[in-house]
Amino acid sequence: MPAALPDRTYEVIVFDWDGTAVPDRGADASQVRRRVEALLAAGVHVVVVSGTHVGNIDGQLQARPKGPGGLFLCLNRGSEVFEVGEDGPRVVWRREATQEEATALDRAAELAVSQLETFGITAKVVSQRLNRRKIDIVPEPEWDDPPKARIAELLEAVTTRLVSHGISDGLAGAVAVGVDAAREAGLADPKVTSDAKHVEIGLTDKADSMRWVLERMGGLGIGPGLMLVAGDEFGDLGNVIGSDAMMLVPEARRATAVSVGVEPQGVPTGVIHLGGGPDAFVAVLDEQLEHRRRMSVPAIDDDPRWVVEVTDDVAHRRVNESITTLANGLIGVRGAREEDGEGSLPLVLVNGVYTGQPVPRLLPGPIWPALMVRSGADSADRWRLDLRTGVLLRERDDGAARLRTFRFVSLDEPTVMGARAEGAASRLAGGEALRAPTPDIALDHHREQTTEIAVTRSDRNGGVGVATTTREVLSDGRRLIERLAAVCADNERLPDTYEARRRLEHATAKGFDALLRSHRAAWAERWRHASLSIVGDPDAELAVRFALFHLMASTADTGEAAVGARGLSGPAYAGHVFWDSDVFVLPVLAAVHPAAARAMLQYRVRRLPAAVRAAAAAGLPGARFPWESADDGTDVTPAFVRGRDGSVIPIRTGQREEHINADIAWAACEYAAWTGDRAFLEAEGRDLVLETARYWAGRIRLDRAGAGHLYGVIGPDEYHEVVDDNAYTNVMARWHLRRAALAGAAGGATQDEIVRWRALADVLVDGYRADTGVYEQFAGYTDLDPLLIADYATPPVAADMLLGPETVQRSQLIKQADVLMLYHLVPDETVPGSLLPNLERYGPRTAHGSSLSPPMHAAVLARAGRVDEALDLFRLACRLDLDDLTDTTAGGLHLATMGGVWQALAYGFLGVRPGEALSLDPRLPSRWERVELNLWFQGAAVTVDVGHDEAVVTTDQPIPLLVGPRRRAVDLAAGSTTIPLRKES
Ligand code: BGC
Repeated sequence: MPAALPDRTYEVIVFDWDGTAVPDRGADASQVRRRVEALLAAGVHVVVVSGTHVGNIDGQLQARPKGPGGLFLCLNRGSEVFEVGEDGPRVVWRREATQEEATALDRAAELAVSQLETFGITAKVVSQRLNRRKIDIVPEPEWDDPPKARIAELLEAVTTRLVSHGISDGLAGAVAVGVDAAREAGLADPKVTSDAKHVEIGLTDKADSMRWVLERMGGLGIGPGLMLVAGDEFGDLGNVIGSDAMMLVPEARRATAVSVGVEPQGVPTGVIHLGGGPDAFVAVLDEQLEHRRRMSVPAIDDDPRWVVEVTDDVAHRRVNESITTLANGLIGVRGAREEDGEGSLPLVLVNGVYTGQPVPRLLPGPIWPALMVRSGADSADRWRLDLRTGVLLRERDDGAARLRTFRFVSLDEPTVMGARAEGAASRLAGGEALRAPTPDIALDHHREQTTEIAVTRSDRNGGVGVATTTREVLSDGRRLIERLAAVCADNERLPDTYEARRRLEHATAKGFDALLRSHRAAWAERWRHASLSIVGDPDAELAVRFALFHLMASTADTGEAAVGARGLSGPAYAGHVFWDSDVFVLPVLAAVHPAAARAMLQYRVRRLPAAVRAAAAAGLPGARFPWESADDGTDVTPAFVRGRDGSVIPIRTGQREEHINADIAWAACEYAAWTGDRAFLEAEGRDLVLETARYWAGRIRLDRAGAGHLYGVIGPDEYHEVVDDNAYTNVMARWHLRRAALAGAAGGATQDEIVRWRALADVLVDGYRADTGVYEQFAGYTDLDPLLIADYATPPVAADMLLGPETVQRSQLIKQADVLMLYHLVPDETVPGSLLPNLERYGPRTAHGSSLSPPMHAAVLARAGRVDEALDLFRLACRLDLDDLTDTTAGGLHLATMGGVWQALAYGFLGVRPGEALSLDPRLPSRWERVELNLWFQGAAVTVDVGHDEAVVTTDQPIPLLVGPRRRAVDLAAGSTTIPLRKES
């Protein structure tokens, strides 16, 4: 079969000039120019990589593009880069030789010339530009500017000559002469090449050009898998590596490389050899233009470190839909098939828009990526979610019927979404663009010219509206469909569909490609300060990225962000906001994307008045936040659920799970600690902390002996309802009162209040028993049946379902981390040295019946130095949704687990915690070689790169650091600092 390029679009085309784009320097380049300008106008980025200088390339190409694609000239063998605009080329990067290097280069060239001469080769230095020295080794003038087609002839002539003069390995020998000369002249890492005409000694080569391209494009969310690299000399020349092969640096591995050259010695594996010279290259450009014209489905960079893949089948359809949800903080779109079908649960959810009383749920909006697809009964389509750029690609490869669909929910323009599809015209059709989400939700549907508009309404006069336009192209029996959609939504009044139409018009004017470009760039920017790597454990690395992706996607970063237990990825828990958001999700965002954490707190701040009313209604001072919260800030916990047998099971958490009050205060303080946003704690944040503390002060009862109690609560372990003095609740309330006393001292609380809060904190019982070193989870826990979970099942397991609620209530089996949470959230409030006995007590009794539990255990186990056990639970948490370990992912992703995963990595394994200073105290599992984590600390962009013996911390501003268990203080200057990690305990 003749070599052919894959049938796909590229976002960047990188090519060599001489021999690839043009036959020679004198040729007319107008046919290349026209195509380059057309590609740039279509938004493709174009890069010329060449050994020559700007005058040569620009003089011949003469492109004067207007964008939106960028035209870059990477010239002089990797030593400079120009960006070409309407006014011509302008230098954007240059690697000049320092004075010292220039002297060394001259010396190297001189040495090489004289060495070559000792072999009888006439050589002379013919150019001294930037960081390069070019030595001519061809004696006969007829070879001065040989056409590429005669390169083999020239090579042979030169080789014969070199060999006859004693340079036995020909061209490679000549290059070696250059390398030796450069080293002798004091250049540590010289880049020496030969094109058979010259030996060139320099500090850079085409690999540097490629690295520049990768970095620049990476910043735009364009990875190497979206790049086409064209050249004519990938194969060796004589025994010297072909000049274009230098572009194939290891980081560019996933790029498509294509040679249009003669390649007398063949091409390296992986390079597609088309041959055909510049004409073939022009045809390649035409093919890319044709893809753009036809609205082909874009490609993704199939990087296993960033792509999560699922295969469609009916049984796992809903789980897969949750996993492949795309969201941008405002809108969430489950990864449902365009044609939906059996088992499918397509949903478009908008943050903050609810319907239903007394238990509201998120109102599903019109389903917009709907298409008509005739597929086999059960097609094993491949779905790939690219975490790096937030796009979803579906592919079914069955020959001519090949189906591909692609979609994104714009991170850059949060009300806008786009999709494309292509398939056999007989099997794919646009159909109705908007569908009702469920039969019980009516759709107001109408059409205005080419725009289809539909609205779903809530029972509070609110609604979600979507406006769409669809374009179709037919080409060779294939149909290509493009759909753009814009959303308008309002929780309280009917959304203005004019708004959606206006946004859609704007989106249409911008165009699919441009929207996708800005979406990809927005994700790249998001990851720049959030990314991480775990060297030695690619599975864990991908899972943590998966978690971070969904955490960032689920949370708005302006206004307020109500982050439901399942984010915008499914119907479970109805979009209600629990402590999951404050304790599990918020700390992550405070560290990687502080604006989103601030928006989450704003959600609580705006509902403080409702919490004050709730406290007053209970006859108590201050504010009491609801266990489950939706739009108006009242408690929306359902009063009961129905058991499998139809029986009514009352839910008491709404009345009794009060630790949420301290959890919210903790989140506010943790946000301030990460960000240094003191202004928040001096204004709205202070009211949040103080009003909730006032509630505790009113809620605590003193017994005759003067000890304080919180009677009748539910702790995190919901298997034991209505208990007295839950240790988690009491210790958190104690921490809260003390913290409020500190915050209140600066204003906002009376002196009497502050004195009282401190006194109450001091007398509040915490269940700690000095004889055992264990906190009793609640009064009377120790007397319960001492069952161990391993005797019944392997966690995670819903022990209440397995053994029956009564048995579990009478036993010491617990649902989730309760006492152990304290060691994670407020370690300074726990008795030093007591972690181990508590781990020993509660670990074997925990069923992990809540998905919140495994990552918290992992975090504290890591702190205790029990890293192998920590790693087991960490992995479990990592796979919870990816493998649907609890059979509940169909209803949406477990965002708290995902937050817990990052926290287990950062707080647990790395011992990274915010405070006055940033703490760092790693405990790495042995199979992890290194962990690198990006985060913000008090406005500084910090990278923590931890190995077993040392950590390298890079910061763009000076920050204080506390290292190791003894908290050794290190004042970090801006830049990178290597910190030895001593084995202290
Ligand atoms: C857990 C709670 C959690 C809720 C929502 C429950 O099963 O016990 O801690 O807040 O789910 O995720």
